[in-house]
Amino acid sequence: STVVSPNEEEHNIIKDTERVIGESSKHEFQAETRMLLDIVARSLYSEKEVFIRELISNASDALEKFRYLTVAGNEGADKIVEFDRPLEIHISTDKHKCTLTIQDTGIGMTKDELLSNLGVIAKSGSKAFVEEMKAKQKSGDNNIIGQFGVGFYSAFMVANKVEVYSRVAGKEGYKWASDGMGTFEIQSAEGVQCGTKIVLHLKTDCREFADEDTVKEVIKKYSNFVGSPLYLNGQKF
Ligand code: ADP
Ligand code: MG
Repeated sequence: STVVSPNEEEHNIIKDTERVIGESSKHEFQAETRMLLDIVARSLYSEKEVFIRELISNASDALEKFRYLTVAGNEGADKIVEFDRPLEIHISTDKHKCTLTIQDTGIGMTKDELLSNLGVIAKSGSKAFVEEMKAKQKSGDNNIIGQFGVGFYSAFMVANKVEVYSRVAGKEGYKWASDGMGTFEIQSAEGVQCGTKIVLHLKTDCREFADEDTVKEVIKKYSNFVGSPLYLNGQKF
């Protein structure tokens, strides 16, 4: 079902290469994470698009970390076995599947990192946000999501299922998946590219984010801050 475009070689467009293997394990989100997920899921319409900013910024961070690692002389640089790949961010939209996918060729996450980074509130920004929301509880004012970096969990503002494929160079690949309802699953996967690929299965009322033109407009707002090449459906920004 993969669409092959003439410039595939050049732009390395997103392909469906992953295949899960073995048993999956089920995990519960931390209490604070659940709270954050509840809040972002009820986010206002006008704030929803910030998930694109958050996911691009994570992809950009991941590429920076990889770049740093591969600088000759840095500890561990010699252990990087697969660094002959372009450092890029790719976003693709699929109207029929109602998905938005973002893939980077950055540092990737090990199984433990998937567990801890995407299962707990990793960042001070998110923590501060939850604290603020606790203070404001019952005031009904949740119009502050855009001001905080709620990070990865913002994906659940628009998606009812999120799949993350990730692999660190020289290590095994994994799939992380969640419907944002309190639990997530982790499973081994083959065919995972180095870096991270995040597939958002969009909620019906958020299907506009499977539309290329809509996504292009949103990316334009944030692409200035990205230090790596960014492609939308194979076209460079
Ligand atoms: P923050 O980026 O502020 O740390 P996020 O919620 O956005 O918080 O992300 C949580 C963590 O998950 C990140 O710190 C990072 O360790 C990991 N992460 C998220 N996205 C990626 C990615 N594309 N590649 C590698 N690691 C990622
Ligand atoms: Mg982030």
